[in-house]
Amino acid sequence: MKPHLLSILACPQCKGPLTYDEEQNHLICKAENLLFLLLMTFLD
Ligand SMILES: [Zn+2]
Repeated sequence: MKPHLLSILACPQCKGPLTYDEEQNHLICKAENLLFLLLMTFLD
């Protein structure tokens, strides 16, 4: 995933930034510790 894509992503819940976990291949909202697995299907 390209870094600029990550910069436009925000948590649907709190609008905070999402962190991409390369090892697990998912997105995380650190504020709430939520995982966004399904989002990855739209990004590739
Ligand atoms: Zn959040």
